[in-house]
Amino acid sequence: MKVLKGTAVSSGLVRGLVCLYSDQSEETVSHYTITDNQISNEIARLEESFRKTQDSMQKMIKVAEKIFDKQAVGIFNVHLMMLKDEELLRKIISLIKEKKINAEHAVHDVFETYINLYNKKQLHFKELAQDFLNLKERILSSFSGLSGHFECSVGERQRVVVAAQKLTPYMVLNISRKNVLAFITQEGGYTTHAMILARSLGIPVIFNINVKENMRCMDRVIVDGFSGKVIVSPDRRTEKYYSQKIERHKTREKVCEIKSKIVSKTAGNLRIKLKLNISTPGELEMIKDFNHDGIGLLRTEFLFLERNHPPSREEQINMYKLIMQKAVNKPVVVRLLDIGSDKLPLFINLPQQINPDLEIKGARAVESFYDLYLTQVKAILIAAKGRDLKILYPMITDESDIIVFKKLISRAKKELKKEKEAFSKKITEGIMIEIPSAALRADVLLPMVDFANIGSNDLLQYTLAAYRGNALVEKRYHILHPSLVKLFEIIIRAGKKEKKEICLCGEISSFEEFYPLFLKLGLRSFSVAVAKFPHIKCELLHLNTSEKTDLLKKVYSAKSKLELDRLFLKTFPK
Ligand code: PEP
Ligand code: MG
Repeated sequence: MKVLKGTAVSSGLVRGLVCLYSDQSEETVSHYTITDNQISNEIARLEESFRKTQDSMQKMIKVAEKIFDKQAVGIFNVHLMMLKDEELLRKIISLIKEKKINAEHAVHDVFETYINLYNKKQLHFKELAQDFLNLKERILSSFSGLSGHFECSVGERQRVVVAAQKLTPYMVLNISRKNVLAFITQEGGYTTHAMILARSLGIPVIFNINVKENMRCMDRVIVDGFSGKVIVSPDRRTEKYYSQKIERHKTREKVCEIKSKIVSKTAGNLRIKLKLNISTPGELEMIKDFNHDGIGLLRTEFLFLERNHPPSREEQINMYKLIMQKAVNKPVVVRLLDIGSDKLPLFINLPQQINPDLEIKGARAVESFYDLYLTQVKAILIAAKGRDLKILYPMITDESDIIVFKKLISRAKKELKKEKEAFSKKITEGIMIEIPSAALRADVLLPMVDFANIGSNDLLQYTLAAYRGNALVEKRYHILHPSLVKLFEIIIRAGKKEKKEICLCGEISSFEEFYPLFLKLGLRSFSVAVAKFPHIKCELLHLNTSEKTDLLKKVYSAKSKLELDRLFLKTFPK
């Protein structure tokens, strides 16, 4: 039995068999020469691998369409089209014949020519290079004789714990939800988009585990996504202990599901606003029975990413309307496009940025892409006709950014009036506080707007100067660093003074263990990942804010990440 300690980013408690998942890399591509007699065999292997890749991609597109809207899966369709290109197949076959090399070798060489060619060109071509790279990896992995990227076929037959070097959004989508009990990875980060996606689908994830050294396909494993423990080949006593724990956990899940229908209050009867973060329309299907207080953060980027042209005004109106209808009479906070960094639409042409998170992102993109923003604002205003609208401005640094957005809204209104188009008459404006300069001056910015959302994902990366998606600085990106708590205090104080709602919507709000601290700090409004909603609700219903604890003092005096972890780590389930 081996007990490994990693970092839990998405909670849950499961046990099952490990299935290693490999990203085919250079070193694993087999290279050998063949004889004349073997040429036809290699061509047959090549054609079979293309067919398998096409099949698995078609399956993946179906899964993706259920999670995202049809438009947003465009990128996967592009890959499929590339795969069907006869010219590509012809080139690889010629290489096999000419150089008398194995099929994998030929695939590798032909794709590398494309990748090198496009990498030398301008930005958009680099994306094409990335497409070729992804496709190359998928084809090469299909040669193993197993579909998908699993290293053992058990992953195709039953639900498994997927162990991999890293988690990509592609993987979360590609490996159907039905097949995954949990993800264990070496690399990761709390707020990378792959993790956000896994969390919103309710799949437990633990990273910081040396997968290659510690586990093999078919190993029995227990994944404790609460404490970050991974137990490989558990002994009988541990198995028994965890099977009881898992049963209790399942019961609690059921109880929480039922409780998610109750209005959000603490045990001391304090009303808390509990809202939902929506990043893809598919998540709306999961919220039907929840007693929630609205959509606290609608990330609109899903409508723009992975496509070659911006969505039309009509298309946007329809999508926003649909989401507002699903929220019934509850408020929907629509965040304007937060372009930049890892959320860059394909149709956007930006000069190469050295530090994308410090350059054109969120509010800073409005000037360069004014028409895009104007169309989005108009579409949102029209979609919200006859209802209140809450509009949220991303990545605000200071007053000047708010003024830019305010001018944009008034121009949109003016033009819609001219067009005789009806739109929402009751618009309230909010800002994302996710840059330290905005947090420190919340008292100056809040009087200019009606509400604010705390975006702790970005706020933390800018406060700690540690990029949220880089595993090398992950240890520095501590999800509850005392300096972040200090900034929370400043924002909450300003909110109280200005009587403006402050809603915590970064990923940190989806971690139930921090709620005693959040309430102590005076936060009363939260927006959380959909799959975490029942757990947070359960936690809130049990909390008593009148309890005297010196939690805040303990956070500020914690000397290390470990000390902070110990402070909040729960022995779960209760
Ligand atoms: C945040 O930064 O906390 C946030 C909610 O925005 P996003 O994760 O979309 O950047
Ligand atoms: Mg952000």
